[in-house]
Amino acid sequence: MANLDTLSAQEIARGVAEGSFSAKEVAQAALDACVQRDREVDAFLEITYDLALERAEAVDAARAKGEPLGPLAGVPVAFKDNMNMEGSHTTCASRMLESYDSPYTATCVSRMLAAGAIPLGKTNMDEFAFGSSTESSCFQQTHNPWDLSRVPGGSSGGSAAAVSAGEVTLALGSDTGGSIRQPASFCGVVGMKPTYGAVSRYGVVAFGSSLDQVGPFGRTVADVALAMNALTAGGRDPMDSTSQDVNLDFLEHLDDPVEGRCVGYVPALIEAAGITHEVREAMQAAMDAFEAAGATLKEVELPHIDAAISAYYVIGPCEAFSNLARFDGVRYGYQEPNCATLASQSSLSRAHGFGAEAKRRQLLGAYLLSSGIYDEYYVHALEARTLITQDYKKAFDQVDALLMPAAPRTAFHFGEMSDPTQMYLSDMFTISSNIAGNGSISVPVGLGHDSGMPVSAQLQTPAFHDRTLITFAHALEKAAGALPVAPRFAGKGGYLA
Ligand code: GLN
Repeated sequence: MANLDTLSAQEIARGVAEGSFSAKEVAQAALDACVQRDREVDAFLEITYDLALERAEAVDAARAKGEPLGPLAGVPVAFKDNMNMEGSHTTCASRMLESYDSPYTATCVSRMLAAGAIPLGKTNMDEFAFGSSTESSCFQQTHNPWDLSRVPGGSSGGSAAAVSAGEVTLALGSDTGGSIRQPASFCGVVGMKPTYGAVSRYGVVAFGSSLDQVGPFGRTVADVALAMNALTAGGRDPMDSTSQDVNLDFLEHLDDPVEGRCVGYVPALIEAAGITHEVREAMQAAMDAFEAAGATLKEVELPHIDAAISAYYVIGPCEAFSNLARFDGVRYGYQEPNCATLASQSSLSRAHGFGAEAKRRQLLGAYLLSSGIYDEYYVHALEARTLITQDYKKAFDQVDALLMPAAPRTAFHFGEMSDPTQMYLSDMFTISSNIAGNGSISVPVGLGHDSGMPVSAQLQTPAFHDRTLITFAHALEKAAGALPVAPRFAGKGGYLA
């Protein structure tokens, strides 16, 4: 009896197209796995039973009529809860949007559904995507499927955990400073942040508009490539002014050899303080794997990368302050009852609607943008952004891809990062590619010797070379081997009759 834990997205779509099983059978098996496993994982804020069965029936009806099926026909998918999907709430894990019904469907969601995907529901996240552990969700804590006492990473922790626990085959997340790649590395799945502009953000609640990008999680690089095909099919989205026409087959170069190609690494990043021994070992294993596959390794420099975290924690909060101004209890969001004036209604709605981290970021943004302060911080952060972008350009003149850690360590325990600035350091390797806008991906390389938890490497390529990114990621995955569904959950439900 087949189990969804061991089927790839392509195998599911093929099985549905060939009639080995129906999309409805897959949806029921996935719902069954979700309900059982989510009792312990708590990845979902909402499971969309009716929508899942409805879409599955539509796929089966299309097949019965002999209509062509999409490349994700019958594939169970979850969406981060900052993505609008008609028929579901979009809460951003915040009290502010606790009862907000999606008025329309985000382009990333509608493209996945157009490809035949089955929507299982909406996943937990850090409130408004501020965080690296999903602990700032106002509703629940999501547990790392490899060790329930640890966090799944964040902010897209629910999406990463849902894929890692085998509750879904694919999930979408958003990444402003690492929120796809860091939870992917904590949960032992593949997570890709495409080039800025490659995937439409229309219908995704904005955090930092010059940094935000939507991307997929999967258990293999091939599954992620298949999701990228769906996300970019149809080309440019006129509803997102930053969207570009990237209508490519991301599977076409999956198996290209990396022999004779060049992988760059920055020694200072591998030796940086705060990196654990097991992450360094994983980097060495990844370098050895590329050499064994015939690629050459080259030392390069990113001299201004040390400024990336500081620049991000200026630019991000400034943009967040502007984007979140609409949650005032009038235009959007929780409305404080019985207020004497409009001004008090707005301030009390915001005071009671937002959690601590969301307030911290907005207060920081308001301060940094104030007159006199602006030139000292925001303008300098933009200058640092230009320097970092130029560093990348120089590095990519010499190499095809860059290799670096995805995170300085493996998943930590709940409550371990009680100081926010310590938490911000979790993103030390991911932020720079949001600053520069190029594509990046985190790929599991095994389990750490000390923690026993998944460890990943991160690869980055120049902007709009996302197919090359997938080629290198696949080469690494072939050497390291993809991780299975977290052992605690494998085979618990998810069986196809
Ligand atoms: N952890 C980073 C932050 O808290 C990144 C978040 C994200 O990418 N959404 O800002």
